[in-house]
Amino acid sequence: MSGLYIHIPYCANRCAYCAFYSSTYEGNREEYVSALCREMELRKSYLKGEPIRTIYFGGGTPSQLSVAELDGLLRHVYASFDCSSVEELTVEVNPDDVTDEYVRGLRSLSVNRISIGVQSFRDEELMLIHRRHSAQQAVEAVTCVKRNGIENISIDLMYGLPGQTLESWKESLKRAVGLDVPHVSAYSLTYEEGTRLSRLVANGDLNPVDEDACAEMFSLLRDELSSAGYVQYEISNFSKPGMESKHNSSYWNGTTYAGFGASAHSYDGVSRQWNVSNTRVYIKKTLSGECDFFEVERLNLATRYNDFVLTSLRTRQGINLSLLKLEFGLALYDYCLQNAEPFMANGSLLCDSNSLRLSGKGIFISDGIMSELMKV
Ligand code: SF4
Repeated sequence: MSGLYIHIPYCANRCAYCAFYSSTYEGNREEYVSALCREMELRKSYLKGEPIRTIYFGGGTPSQLSVAELDGLLRHVYASFDCSSVEELTVEVNPDDVTDEYVRGLRSLSVNRISIGVQSFRDEELMLIHRRHSAQQAVEAVTCVKRNGIENISIDLMYGLPGQTLESWKESLKRAVGLDVPHVSAYSLTYEEGTRLSRLVANGDLNPVDEDACAEMFSLLRDELSSAGYVQYEISNFSKPGMESKHNSSYWNGTTYAGFGASAHSYDGVSRQWNVSNTRVYIKKTLSGECDFFEVERLNLATRYNDFVLTSLRTRQGINLSLLKLEFGLALYDYCLQNAEPFMANGSLLCDSNSLRLSGKGIFISDGIMSELMKV
């Protein structure tokens, strides 16, 4: 079983922290949708006939597309891939795009999961990071999605925002819990090069929240969500039991996937590839049938081992040790356990007969642990 990702690179405005590939220019939207359909035709054999389990529209802002445009894309998906076993069909939306009519339209397309970019429930924080919606609009978006019969909702939150305090973060978390959504993704703000926020910091016009405060926010996140019945099934992802994101889980357990659209990534088990991050070039090349709109990296054993360790360790299950030995051989298995030893000794990693995973203490230093286990 495989996953499909479709990238919609349009946004009504640029958020101040964003380093994703997206554009506020929508003049070529119609052509882009045609180019996506063309790419599906060109790459329909990429997954070698493997049935599709999950479909994910991400962005950018997929809710910039009309229901009719999404319908057209899905028709091409169904014509190009075996979609008889699809279990999860997700669309990311911005809160201010959500209306009763839009959600009913998504539902008519069999969309059964909505991911809402909330980020914060404090208006002053939302303004600072240039989100285009208010906290109230985010609350209304969640209730609107539920009212129209889609219960499988995820909300995205961010912590470590400029000006955010432990108190204001706690308030956002309380409001998230109060909405009783089955899934929450929460990421620490990073200052990516080229973003407005990183420029403000470089010019001394903004003070980032310090690392200790971020760690406290992460700790609060875990405590609040765990008391509300959420399971932290991946470092940044929390769900009510059984409500994990099937699509994102497939990235962490090595499932193959095909990504369509400008900047989209794909993985077929032996190589990964990524499309050009330029909508104009992407449209031109796909529509003219030129198959050089992506780059490919064939993965050697060490790279595949590193990917496996990195993604597995982020999950609650951790590294499956028998799979590690089977897939990567005794030498890399021993390498992993030897490098893990100091962390097992200080209680940051837990090891039982078949898994190696982060402890509650280790989760706070996960980056350091992962880099020690990786093969350089
Ligand atoms: S809506 Fe998402 S993709 Fe668009 S600018 Fe904001 S964070 Fe980036």
